[in-house]
Amino acid sequence: MKDTSNITQQATKQTDSAAIKLKICGMKYQDNIEQVASLQPDYLGFIFYDKTPRNYDAKTITNVPESIKKTGVFVNAEISTIIKTVTDYNLQAVQLHGHESPYYCSILKSTKLFTKNKVEIIKVFSVNESFNFNQLEPYEVVCDYFLFDTKGKLPGGNGYKFDWSLLNNYPSTKPFFLSGGIGLSDVDVINKFKTSEASKYCYAIDINSKFEIEPGLKKVSALKAFKNHLNNKNMNLYNVDEKGYYGEFGGAYIPEMLYPNVEELRQKYLEVMSEPSFKEEFNQLLKDYVGRPSPLYFAKRLSEKYNTKIYLKREDLNHTGAHKINNTIGQILMAKRLGKHRIIAETGAGQHGVATATVCALMGLECIVYMGEIDIARQAPNVARMKMLGATVVPAKSGSRTLKDATNEAIRDWINNPIDTHYIIGSAIGPHPYPDMVTRFQAVISEEIKWQLLEHENKENPDYVVACIGGGSNAAGTYYHYLHDEDVKIIAVEAAGLGVDSGESAATSVLGKEGIIHGCKTLLMQTNDGQITEPYSISAGLDYPGVGPMHAHLAKTGRAEFMSITDDQAMNAGLELCKLEGIIPAIESSHALAIFEQKTFKPDDIVVVSLSGRGDKDLNNYIEYFKI
Ligand SMILES: *Cc1c(COP(=O)(O)O)cnc(C)c1O
Repeated sequence: MKDTSNITQQATKQTDSAAIKLKICGMKYQDNIEQVASLQPDYLGFIFYDKTPRNYDAKTITNVPESIKKTGVFVNAEISTIIKTVTDYNLQAVQLHGHESPYYCSILKSTKLFTKNKVEIIKVFSVNESFNFNQLEPYEVVCDYFLFDTKGKLPGGNGYKFDWSLLNNYPSTKPFFLSGGIGLSDVDVINKFKTSEASKYCYAIDINSKFEIEPGLKKVSALKAFKNHLNNKNMNLYNVDEKGYYGEFGGAYIPEMLYPNVEELRQKYLEVMSEPSFKEEFNQLLKDYVGRPSPLYFAKRLSEKYNTKIYLKREDLNHTGAHKINNTIGQILMAKRLGKHRIIAETGAGQHGVATATVCALMGLECIVYMGEIDIARQAPNVARMKMLGATVVPAKSGSRTLKDATNEAIRDWINNPIDTHYIIGSAIGPHPYPDMVTRFQAVISEEIKWQLLEHENKENPDYVVACIGGGSNAAGTYYHYLHDEDVKIIAVEAAGLGVDSGESAATSVLGKEGIIHGCKTLLMQTNDGQITEPYSISAGLDYPGVGPMHAHLAKTGRAEFMSITDDQAMNAGLELCKLEGIIPAIESSHALAIFEQKTFKPDDIVVVSLSGRGDKDLNNYIEYFKI
């Protein structure tokens, strides 16, 4: 017993000492200092330099625990000024941002105050391509750490990164702080850096302006997210990790016989997607065939009604009437690059079947769509479309003869045809790498929102992004470029059917429990003994018993707020959009629009809603419901 616990303790210690420390710099306001201190960073920085808006001008620093090193930041200050400031504010470290010489540092280091209190000296160097690392040598003995920042107009606080690969020439063993425009969205860059040789000597990360509401005022939630993830092996908040997980959700739970197919895709998808010729063909087709960019439309009358600023991302204007085509275009190009000439897909309501049959016709590839026998009868127009487009529609006659059974048939087909066949999955679900691949293809939605909103509102970030969730592909695309901008709130809208407690719904985040569906671990609606519950929603596209693993993770971490909307609420919101804006939305999208009756937004909030599809396909439903 005793031995084991000792070993554990030692192991923990070891990781601790290797852990990258965190310095949060540019603190200014007392309340904010206390909130940030409660996150227990290793260093808090206070700038004593009156040419910056982050200049610390209070008389004291109070309520910062001893465990956090209070660091004074100076630019070419007199030694006497530094001594006085360190004494007055009880600082444990000083950071020198000017042209302080090795001699200057040695004087400081040998003062009684510094030797007695072990005050640390951090010397800053601004790095660019022409930086000569040999100049560090004389500083080695007279300071405790180096700090590498971006070379810019001001000493520090320039808000952008230098090329960290320059540190591959680092000739020293002195531990350093890494600084300069580091933000939450830099998780990928930091992960990459962690595998480099130079990272061995990276003692701390220094963050500042990218975590601010205004100069000196820090965003506590964003800092918290950053700190919590800094020392994960793969610093990853909301994107998939290298094993295919979003937090605890995702992975690839597949029959062994499917392994070679999925593994081939996993090994190649990122490489293929990053090829310039792939990107070029994808973008060209999105533009000329799909009709992108889809407009970001300011819905004036809807905004007036709800006294807030509502923008609609018009995926309904895409060729074939919804966002699904973004993904099928991407996957058909992937299939071609992988040398596959036979395409299979499963479909429930037929929308994904149509989007797949469309791109197969476009590329002249064979297309087989599996569809439950019941669904074939219910969705005659989509079956006709697929046939006109040249696809073979194969009925799934087992089980409940719906989507789940069609999926099983498609998987069986893929196992039997591993060499020449690609399986196009239609949402951000399935075994890794599907959820990530589909998300990346749909990410064009938020990529466009960013520059379009910049044109409309002079800023890239709205206050909210909103999307309905079936499996979660239009939502994943709408959120993607905002996932790490914590000031953009995320709302995910699920179908509550006849009501969350009615037994007839698809509100997975409320009713779902962890389980495995279609090859990934996620939240899904199931009975106590693990049987998947038959979902219900008036909209065929939201009628799915699970959500993609990214969304399960967003629900679990609280990054996204989940709302459930009933059939009635959605239908009324759909009709309202017709009357107010002259747009007939898909019933799926109507769910996202229905949140405005449920939640009050501020007049100057900017809310971007994904209008995932058009309502032509739902006309019969609308007619029956409203007795039109
Ligand atoms: C299929 C569909 C959805 C639901 O699918 P996600 O993968 O969750 O986006 C939503 N809206 C429309 C119009 C659809 O066709």
